[in-house]
Amino acid sequence: MLIDNHGRTINYLRLAVTDKCNLRCFYCMPEDGLKWLSRTELMSYEEMLRACALLVNMGIQKIRITGGEPFVRKDIMKLLTAISNLDGLQDLSLTTNGILTAPHVAELKAIGVKSVNLSLDTLDAGRFFSITRRDEFGAVMASLDELLKHNIEVKINAVVMDGKNTQDIIPLVELTKELPVSVRFIEEMPFNGDGQIHQTKMSWDYIRILEEIEQVYPGIKKIQDPVYSTSYNYHVPGHAGNVGIIAAYSRTFCGTCNRIRITPQGTLKNCLYDDGVLNIKDLMRSGNNDATIKDSLLNAFNNRVKNGWEAEKLVKNTGMHESMAAIGG
Ligand code: SAM
Repeated sequence: MLIDNHGRTINYLRLAVTDKCNLRCFYCMPEDGLKWLSRTELMSYEEMLRACALLVNMGIQKIRITGGEPFVRKDIMKLLTAISNLDGLQDLSLTTNGILTAPHVAELKAIGVKSVNLSLDTLDAGRFFSITRRDEFGAVMASLDELLKHNIEVKINAVVMDGKNTQDIIPLVELTKELPVSVRFIEEMPFNGDGQIHQTKMSWDYIRILEEIEQVYPGIKKIQDPVYSTSYNYHVPGHAGNVGIIAAYSRTFCGTCNRIRITPQGTLKNCLYDDGVLNIKDLMRSGNNDATIKDSLLNAFNNRVKNGWEAEKLVKNTGMHESMAAIGG
């Protein structure tokens, strides 16, 4: 079991397999995209699999594949299948925007993926276009259908943005009436990849989001949050699904943080808000054996910051210009 210097269990890896994305969500990256990583900067699938195997051997039980958009990386199903076969891994899941997902759902089910996070900030096709700068709402809804048909648990992630989609909060809650999905509202974070330092004014924090929902659903009930949950979870009586709120900017969940991240170029992040603590790809490419790499990883886990506020303070260039696609949201 992996325990950090603050006594927290580490058992969850989020692996970003590419920085590329087929959407251009305005809060994530500029309209022209990012300065994409070259092939040699990216970890190869062999390197990713080796990193995952090492970490599973050390105590990681859950791996989430993210990006960028996982399905824009060629042959992603090969990597997912190989990871799903790792001895000791209990849970493989992924986060996707749903554009290219539908044709892969049956195979995802077959390799044991039980849960998928689907990013969807609005149920209005016009607003979808204005937020993502792509006309792909129909493709995302088709993937949602396909996932539900295959009994894969779906969590819909919606970033709440002042002046952009707050009118979608109630329709998204309404979606839980008939569908057994968990709709999670996320506070907007300052990772939009435009090279600027942003002093984010959090006008829609988790408290305001809940108040907005309670106005229409005064009977909404708090339910038990799963262990290590980053969301506060609720249920509207009579609805098939649940509602969650993720205080991603307010950072209320750091005390039980069980997760680490690896970016597409192999940077290990102990916290979403740090700027990387070591590069596992570089360690591998310099010919280190597994034992040496494990020692470096353990050393990093023994020096984790206490919370995201501390991490942010330590980042010299503030790091706030990064895109979530380059980090693995
Ligand atoms: N392409 C996949 C997707 O869309 O789900 C995975 C990567 S995406 C970067 C992961 C999540 O990060 C998405 O749910 C996205 O909405 C969220 N995200 C991106 N930028 C964000 C920001 N500035 N604040 C909050 N969430 C953000």
